[in-house]
Amino acid sequence: MLISPMQFFRNLPKKKCAACKKEMEEQADCYTNKCEKCSTII
Ligand SMILES: [Zn+2]
Repeated sequence: MLISPMQFFRNLPKKKCAACKKEMEEQADCYTNKCEKCSTII
């Protein structure tokens, strides 16, 4: 049975920030694994 890419991604667990472990909404800049707050820290 074929699974559409959209269904595949919906089944993935929610992204969590690698720094604070807070669940994140999917964002346009999906290359980052940190939330907006943590990713701004340089
Ligand atoms: Zn964070």
